[in-house]
Amino acid sequence: MTELLYQTDSYLREFDAQVTAVDGQRVALDRTTFYATSGGQPHDTGTLGDGSRGWRVSEVRREGEHVWHTVEGAEMPAIGTTLHGAIDWDRRYKLMRTHTALHLLCGVIWRDYQAPVTGGNMDVDEGRLDFELRDFSNELAQEIIERVNGEVQADRVVEVQFLPRAKAFQIPDLIRTKINLLPADITEIRTVNIVGLDLQADGGTHVRCTSEVGKVVLRKTRSKGANNKRIIIAVEG
Ligand SMILES: [Zn+2]
Repeated sequence: MTELLYQTDSYLREFDAQVTAVDGQRVALDRTTFYATSGGQPHDTGTLGDGSRGWRVSEVRREGEHVWHTVEGAEMPAIGTTLHGAIDWDRRYKLMRTHTALHLLCGVIWRDYQAPVTGGNMDVDEGRLDFELRDFSNELAQEIIERVNGEVQADRVVEVQFLPRAKAFQIPDLIRTKINLLPADITEIRTVNIVGLDLQADGGTHVRCTSEVGKVVLRKTRSKGANNKRIIIAVEG
């Protein structure tokens, strides 16, 4: 099983790890800080090297117990080799800011409109969430984004915690965000808590306080149906 270093320290940029498996152009490691695409957050990119050779990491996927790093290069490292890894920090940090901004949006819309999220996704440049909202307009979306920026300025702490499954299932905020959809074999639930605003079961990487998100701007709104509205945001600065 690959140890997911980013789950406890999202600011870790470099690490050393051993190659546990090789499959074509893919390398599995015993530990990694490369985020594998999941929960709407895209994978990291970066480099792996053994001191004399280096590989560019272009894709990262989690399959079963392994995190697979797709690398570019002719010769692959052997199983047991120690590699030094480094993620592209600019890309990752933008994704962390965008991910936390989406949780702020989710928290504000639930607190002020009791509208649940129906879907979401993000890229390096923007993120989107869909909500069950009936009355909706560009003006309302603009007002919501102003409130989100108020929460950025409030500089709320973002806490990551691991809870036993039974305990997590007793927390109303987690039940509301469909924690019951998590596979039964997950015994420990990772939670991301924007203290005082939004608590979710989440595997993503986040900034440690909301002021790091920077300015949140409204990119676009879309109506996906009478009861389903999309808000697309970006982080600036
Ligand atoms: Zn999330």
